[in-house]
Amino acid sequence: MLTRREFLKLCVSTAVTWTLTDVLFEELVKAATGPVKPKVIWLQASACTGNTLSFTNTVNPYLSRVLLDLVDLRYHPNLSGVMGDAAMRQIEEAIAKAPEYVVVVEGAIPTGLNGLFGTIGERNGKPVTMMQVVKEVGERAKAVVAIGVCATHGGPFAAYPNPTGCIGVSKLLKRPVINCPGCPCHPDWFVGTLSSLLLYGEPPDLDHINRPRVFYGQTVHDLCTRRSYFENGLYAKYPGDFGCMYQIGCKGPITYADCPRRKWNEYVNWPVEDNTPCIGCANPGFPDASSPFFAHLPSVKAPNLYVNANTLGVAAGAVTAAAIGAHAIGQIKSGRGFGGSHKDKPGDRKDGGQ
Ligand code: SF4
Ligand code: SF4
Repeated sequence: MLTRREFLKLCVSTAVTWTLTDVLFEELVKAATGPVKPKVIWLQASACTGNTLSFTNTVNPYLSRVLLDLVDLRYHPNLSGVMGDAAMRQIEEAIAKAPEYVVVVEGAIPTGLNGLFGTIGERNGKPVTMMQVVKEVGERAKAVVAIGVCATHGGPFAAYPNPTGCIGVSKLLKRPVINCPGCPCHPDWFVGTLSSLLLYGEPPDLDHINRPRVFYGQTVHDLCTRRSYFENGLYAKYPGDFGCMYQIGCKGPITYADCPRRKWNEYVNWPVEDNTPCIGCANPGFPDASSPFFAHLPSVKAPNLYVNANTLGVAAGAVTAAAIGAHAIGQIKSGRGFGGSHKDKPGDRKDGGQ
């Protein structure tokens, strides 16, 4: 079997080099299945179903292989095709017959009115709330994976003024939750995390907020193909312009995710490559802390760097300023420096390759 180290190397690589499918899948199926396949119960709370859609777009391995060869998906609100009482029965049967299961939670948990803003079905004529089901199923699970920023930290459902009292799963449960944020979560981030759980009985190394470091260990900014433009002060003025998107609100410097390397939609593209800023969808504070998405960031002064942004993004401002300031100081200390003239005008450069 692959060592954990080799496995993590594989997760970092994308379609162009090794892939989970090419190298690992047969091994994974053998190790994970044994006499019985691992049971997975997928619950949905307040969600747009975007993470389910993203997961169904997995190509490495394809969805059919995950569902037919890798896991025994005992319940999924969309893929199981049941609702109301039938859904309740299926969840209860799944728990009863699967003493060891992994639960995946998609969506934020409404806690207002004792959870009554979100119900799944009924028990003895009384509504059963999403909050109740996630607690019951989550506390007994072998592992809990929160998929997407709504499940990890509340996301758009918990945005101000949050009338339904939505929270992330880790705030609800009294046990560790593996967080795979993003709006949506990249299929590789989720399938890679699940594969590690199945192969080694534990997730990849986690950071201080329980995100797998292998996918969330570096900022978008650190991996960005337009990083030299940032350092040379070649900024886009409007979405659609070429250049670094920093002055039109790019949250890459404060967002931990490997989008520039991994890319989306079968490894084809990602926002900055399409001349639009990263809106920080994998950040715990998304979307409030990223709003307004296209507003200029606050003016930042740091040694050797002055970025004049004339409108403050109120919520993101302080965090972003601190992050950029720290980044700038780090650059200078590490000797990478900011090569460009700070007098370069934003938007000057609209051509050229990445
Ligand atoms: S600010 Fe955004 S576009 Fe500019 S280098 Fe950083 S991540 Fe890339
Ligand atoms: S580039 Fe930014 S906004 Fe786009 S998916 Fe990655 S973290 Fe989310």
